[in-house]
Amino acid sequence: MSTDPNCIFCKIVAGQIPSKKAFENEELLAFHDIHPWAPVHVLVIPKVHVATLSDTGPEHEAMLGRMLALAPRLMRDLGVTGGFRTVINTGRDGGQEVYHLHMHVFGGPRPWVKG
Ligand code: AMP
Ligand code: ZN
Repeated sequence: MSTDPNCIFCKIVAGQIPSKKAFENEELLAFHDIHPWAPVHVLVIPKVHVATLSDTGPEHEAMLGRMLALAPRLMRDLGVTGGFRTVINTGRDGGQEVYHLHMHVFGGPRPWVKG
């Protein structure tokens, strides 16, 4: 499996940096954002290192579908009943800070800190 030893999210996958996990299987990991914008703020990542959404190809399509499909299940499991928001920041102009593909999932009662 492709990993980047300098990547913070690869280190989370490897257990070298702690995280508060919300879901895990062979392919995906979901964990709570360290600086939440909303009462529930989870990041869904592939365990394999893919830097950005722009670095995905046809071989990633099924995995991307499963990332998106995980969102409602996660929110339900975390007790979010009023809806949620999904965001993938991509590249410099997209405001991406961590270059390991991740989908933000925000939920819980408003007001939120941001978003
Ligand atoms: P983005 O701007 O889309 O790249 O978002 C990166 C997100 O990763 C931010 O919301 C950060 O708060 C979050 N983040 C960075 N380091 C950690 C960490 N060690 N554990 C959990 N979330 C993190
Ligand atoms: Zn990585």
